Amino acid sequence: METGDDAGPAVVETGDDDAGPAVPKTGDAGRAASLDPARAGVGRTWIRNPLAILAAEGLDARGGVVVEGDRITEVLGAGEQPAAPCETVLDAAEHVVLPGLINTHHHFYQTLTRAWTPVVSAELFPWLVNLYPVWAQLTPRDLELATTAAMAELLLSGCTTAADHHYLFPGGLEDAIDIQVDAARRLGMRAVLTRGSMTLGTDDGGLPPQDVVQDLDTIFADSRRLVELYHERGPGAQVQIALAPCSPFSVTREAMRDSAVLAEELDVRLHTHLAETLDEEQFCLDRFGLRTVDYLESVGWLSSRAWLAHGIHFDDGEIARLGAAGVGIAHCPTSNMRLASGTCRAVELEDAGAAVGLGVDGSASNDGSNLILEARQALYLQRLRYGADVPPERALRWATAGSARALGRDDLGEIAVGRQADLALFRLDDLRFSGSHDLLAALLLCGADRADRVMVAGRWRVVGGQVEGLDLPALVADHSAAARGLLSRAGV
Ligand SMILES: [Zn+2]
Repeated sequence: METGDDAGPAVVETGDDDAGPAVPKTGDAGRAASLDPARAGVGRTWIRNPLAILAAEGLDARGGVVVEGDRITEVLGAGEQPAAPCETVLDAAEHVVLPGLINTHHHFYQTLTRAWTPVVSAELFPWLVNLYPVWAQLTPRDLELATTAAMAELLLSGCTTAADHHYLFPGGLEDAIDIQVDAARRLGMRAVLTRGSMTLGTDDGGLPPQDVVQDLDTIFADSRRLVELYHERGPGAQVQIALAPCSPFSVTREAMRDSAVLAEELDVRLHTHLAETLDEEQFCLDRFGLRTVDYLESVGWLSSRAWLAHGIHFDDGEIARLGAAGVGIAHCPTSNMRLASGTCRAVELEDAGAAVGLGVDGSASNDGSNLILEARQALYLQRLRYGADVPPERALRWATAGSARALGRDDLGEIAVGRQADLALFRLDDLRFSGSHDLLAALLLCGADRADRVMVAGRWRVVGGQVEGLDLPALVADHSAAARGLLSRAGV
């Protein structure tokens, strides 16, 4: 029996013998009624007997999972039944079930400058120098559309939590993060929105043009405001705020150091780009007289509060120090290949103790926001470095549990009792999967690119490969028009 308007049609069974009475006679009904209104009507859902499932290590989940409210309350072994009746049963006999994927690094606004001719074949520094003047023209409406487009694209790829690094606040776009919070709430996706910053313009030897940098007082006042207004704490948090100076070549030493102090005071996380290219390493040597990790340590960032985008150019000693400190790394393989930046030593970083997660990176350097395809890229890029015995499951765990750890979330990233009910379900009935045998491996090896169903906090946000409540053709039309308008305003 369907109890919610979002339960979906064909796969929900009624009056199933295994499920017990369709309407529970216990206190469950009363309990459902007392849930947060946003979760009301969800009740208990049994996602039964999946074709394959990636559960927490060592757990038999062949019987599926029971979701109640926003959490996983039971993980069932083969042949096991739920301990109490479930109002909704979803037969997952044609689904491979993963924990919701978690993206640890993005720049949503860059969906407006995908595959832009002048930078299609450029490396990082010239790529940035060409793009900064275009991005400086960004309007609130542009950012709203770009954020919605990027998050919808991520959702459709099985992603349930997305971190974004937004560091552009031109005149009129002072409320950039507020706009992103609204978009995340509308889509019902989890978001870690980082209040980015750039303080080192070309006048002072930095890379960004002077008109896109801000002063520290403005940055920190806005950071405080955002944390007080939006940052949720504890299990199940939907929106979180972190502090994110852009990179060593776009902020001053003072901005890095004071951001770390403020993050400690506000108890929020820290994010930046680090060791992406050799140009950056040379910049740090020239300007600070330090390699990147020494610089990071000198400004108080060598801690598990921080997660770093890319993390490519580290030597053995630096990997050991990052691992011992439990620093997070957002491995972004497509971007790193696209800009020819290098290969992150992800396996060694994780083995050393670092929290390795995956990021699609901004859409001007990927140029897509597809996280299940990013896990495939990570698997293959890491195999080029370490050999063919890097298993697909390891790449899937980078995209889930590893990413959760990088974002400091112990309530996400695994299928286990007590974890948040964030799930991604993939069908394998497409031609590309025909003839495959190891079904979890097939997701990556055969190139799964779209989830059939995605659940966030116990609610279905994608059903039948479509984002619930989103007019996708209208979004594509508006977003494409905004992209053309942005280039036109920039005069390019
Ligand atoms: Zn980035």
